[in-house]
Amino acid sequence: MALPAARFAPEPQPVPFSGDPAAALPATAEVVVVGAGMVGASAALRLAQAGMRPLVIEANAPAFGASGRLAGMALAGLGGHFPRVTRLAQASGARSILDYTTRSLDLLRALEAELPGGIEWQGVGSVDLALTQEEERHVRHMAEIQAAEGLAVEVVTSDALRDLAPGVDATTVRAAKWTPGDGTVNPFRLVYRSLEAAMQLGAQVVTGVRVEELLVRGGRAAGVRTSHGDVAAGSVLMATNAWTPALVPWVRQAVTPIREHIIVTEPVDLALGHGFETNQCNEYWRQMRTGEVLIGGYAVADDEMGIGSYSMTVRPQVPPLLAHLLGQLHPKLRDVRVVRTWAGLLDFAALEIPLAGPLCTDDGTIVPGAFLACGITGHGLPYAPILGLLLAELIADGAARTLSLDPFDPRRYAGQAHAPTWLAPFQGVVPA
Ligand SMILES: Cc1cc2nc3c(=O)[nH]c(=O)nc-3n(C[C@H](O)[C@H](O)[C@H](O)COP(=O)(O)OP(=O)(O)OC[C@H]3O[C@@H](n4cnc5c(N)ncnc54)[C@H](O)[C@@H]3O)c2cc1C
Repeated sequence: MALPAARFAPEPQPVPFSGDPAAALPATAEVVVVGAGMVGASAALRLAQAGMRPLVIEANAPAFGASGRLAGMALAGLGGHFPRVTRLAQASGARSILDYTTRSLDLLRALEAELPGGIEWQGVGSVDLALTQEEERHVRHMAEIQAAEGLAVEVVTSDALRDLAPGVDATTVRAAKWTPGDGTVNPFRLVYRSLEAAMQLGAQVVTGVRVEELLVRGGRAAGVRTSHGDVAAGSVLMATNAWTPALVPWVRQAVTPIREHIIVTEPVDLALGHGFETNQCNEYWRQMRTGEVLIGGYAVADDEMGIGSYSMTVRPQVPPLLAHLLGQLHPKLRDVRVVRTWAGLLDFAALEIPLAGPLCTDDGTIVPGAFLACGITGHGLPYAPILGLLLAELIADGAARTLSLDPFDPRRYAGQAHAPTWLAPFQGVVPA
């Protein structure tokens, strides 16, 4: 499918919001975090734990964005993005991108124990199903390179799959990649519990206020201009997902908004057990603790694959395809009722590796005191926990200590329009 280049870098749009007339903003803050998704919430928690008092400014409610609309699968192997992202990370001196993504999963496990009420972490593993010969070849290749870098991963065929995932119609599956260390979370709990814990330590969260501009004085960040007045701040972190180009226009060249759909079934008795994916994460599903099955994807059926769209309106052609795939792979779910559907925005980075670190201008000049975290490319759970921690270390102590942030340096993208690498390998097909 040929898409005009402008679809990859659409006109920036600020996040929609209706504004809270009663919202009260302080005039100053030590550090402002813009956006209360899982990236902003993770950074706010780690900043507060580092002894700072972050002010989180959210245009809507926490988890309004992608963090309240995802499937909730934490995949250390990053689906089809793994080979290219790990190559870029290694070129920046990292051992493997797995050091970051598996650390995020460790942090999620720890948050389950540390945050009151937990985040519903379930270490159920994930099963990546290969339905075609081409997918099987790819799954085997991915398993090989991930295992070589230390991920516990195994390719299984029909008999083992029957034991591992008894609800799946094994006759439709050629092979599957089993990753036992993966898991699922309740993303609302992750965001809200993290913010609550940050607030216990002195953070403030203000909602219904939109940041309109980063204030820069003498070449360094001085605060933010908002719908409710200015806030002076020593540091500002923008964790604003697909809406980042409205605040940092050059990011438009680097990050593409993509609409993605989810449907939710009524609760079912059949226990699916794992997180599942097909077609290199283009479709993915999991069962919630309460029995509902949540399945997302089929961007290929959206108008122009949802690429370049800032709209979160559900396109009617997508939900039936998600329901069809679920019934095809899990025959007992063939007639299950769908009770909800929604769409959200992914932010795909052109080279698939996120942008996280000091903010720069489009000629690569660092703006001291300003920081950026966006371009998470559909894998919030394996990135947000570790990137939030590393950014907090950078802001609080002047350097990321746990792991290097170099692989995510936004300067990789500044002033350059890279052709997106993420359209390959599979987009799947729309069933007739
Ligand atoms: C349908 C779907 C399924 C997905 N499934 C998975 C999955 O299974 N596993 C996985 O790991 N990832 C998944 N993802 C990706 C994951 O949801 C995202 O990568 C992650 O949530 C991004 O977090 P964030 O904090 O960067 O962005 P968001 O959650 O979008 O948060 C950004 C916040 O910033 C606020 N904001 C923006 N601009 C401003 C402003 N100017 N002023 C104030 N506030 C502002 C927004 O209101 C928003 O709340 C999925 C995404 C979608 C859409």
